[in-house]
Amino acid sequence: MTQLTLDQHVLVEKARRFTWEHLVSLENTVTQQGGIEPEQARTLMRLGQESKLFATNIDSKYGGVGLSTFENVLIQEQLGVTKDVLIRRATGNIYECLMLGTAAQQERYLFPALKGKRWCSLAVSELEAGSDAASIKTCATKSDQGWVLNGRKAYISDAEYSDYFIVAAKTAPELGAKGISLFLVDKNVPGFSLGKSFNMMGFIGTSHNELIFNQIHVEEDSLLGEMNQGFKILCQTLGRARLAKVAARGLGKCVRLLDLMTEHAKQRHQFGKPIVETGNIRYILADCAIEIRVARALLWETARRMDKGESCREEISMLKVFVTELLGRVADHAVQIFGASGCHDGHLIESFYRDARLFRIIDGTSEIHRNIIANSLIKQGAPIIVDV
Ligand SMILES: Cc1cc2nc3c(=O)[nH]c(=O)nc-3n(C[C@H](O)[C@H](O)[C@H](O)COP(=O)(O)OP(=O)(O)OC[C@H]3O[C@@H](n4cnc5c(N)ncnc54)[C@H](O)[C@@H]3O)c2cc1C
Repeated sequence: MTQLTLDQHVLVEKARRFTWEHLVSLENTVTQQGGIEPEQARTLMRLGQESKLFATNIDSKYGGVGLSTFENVLIQEQLGVTKDVLIRRATGNIYECLMLGTAAQQERYLFPALKGKRWCSLAVSELEAGSDAASIKTCATKSDQGWVLNGRKAYISDAEYSDYFIVAAKTAPELGAKGISLFLVDKNVPGFSLGKSFNMMGFIGTSHNELIFNQIHVEEDSLLGEMNQGFKILCQTLGRARLAKVAARGLGKCVRLLDLMTEHAKQRHQFGKPIVETGNIRYILADCAIEIRVARALLWETARRMDKGESCREEISMLKVFVTELLGRVADHAVQIFGASGCHDGHLIESFYRDARLFRIIDGTSEIHRNIIANSLIKQGAPIIVDV
């Protein structure tokens, strides 16, 4: 890591030690018991706060750690080597759009989140509106005291654990994507309930639920950001999160899997010799190593450019596609190299394999991100591939 300053080396080392000491040690609990106990979650949160690895993406002026985008991806790669629920609990999973809130909203939602007292989920998707998020049906209508929300959300991560939600709702249905606003909705508000729980194939330990809003009355000040700007706010603030939580953490998982399969291939003997001596396995390991280095180069370049104020929309999409598809290939190779020993339930390899598949769907599918890249290429031509 010759391109890092001494402080950045120290940061990486801190995140690496923290992950291996406090998170990796809980992996078996997650894979074999389906999650961690509330007390363990509280401990992880406290440890994350003490190590300044909690709320790293939130500006220090609000009470977050305030790492740069580049520093954040450095630590997220280290954290990413383990199970996602452990990372969530230790780092806070706090959405950057909360910094756009009014003083009262920050007091009620952002600051308690920074203290680990209130947890938040982002609720955009619905059963009939996934990739086409602009077609959501949940709506918010103006009332004398504020707003009335009606509708249903689906697949919302951590809904059972969260205390409040950032909810995307139509405030001007005729305007499509330009008629969506964001609302801060407390879980205990009358008319709100958790609906169906989706038992996902991966991300064990994190719930995924339907949210039901039945004539929910929320205050005027529940509107986050400007009216009808919800889609824009999400596009502007989710890029950094995508880079950190999906690309950097996904890369961390690739590194971990490559380490695990290399070690296994060295130890496992068949036909009187270690399987790592077979040509095919050597080439698989080498190809994974090459692709990991390529992905990291684009990740670091993109993060540094974002710190200089560039939006890097296309690069974020490129990374979303490249890293998540790389993770799929690496996880598939890992299953093959481990053979039956990695295929049974409760084994880390099969658990990572199932997680890996979800990475291509969450936070915008590969196809949607390819559309973003292609649209830009068609409009701008070469700049998106040669502008370094
Ligand atoms: C584990 C998990 C956690 C999630 N957590 C959350 C959460 O916390 N909050 C939240 O709001 N949502 C969440 N989601 C939902 C997620 O955002 C959606 O799954 C995602 O946006 C894709 O939508 P969809 O699943 O409805 O697929 P669809 O939109 O139905 O797409 C199905 C297929 O069609 C393809 N497709 C669709 N349109 C096009 C097009 N124009 N061009 C090419 N291909 C296309 C897609 O790429 C995909 O392959 C979560 C999903 C999962 C799996």
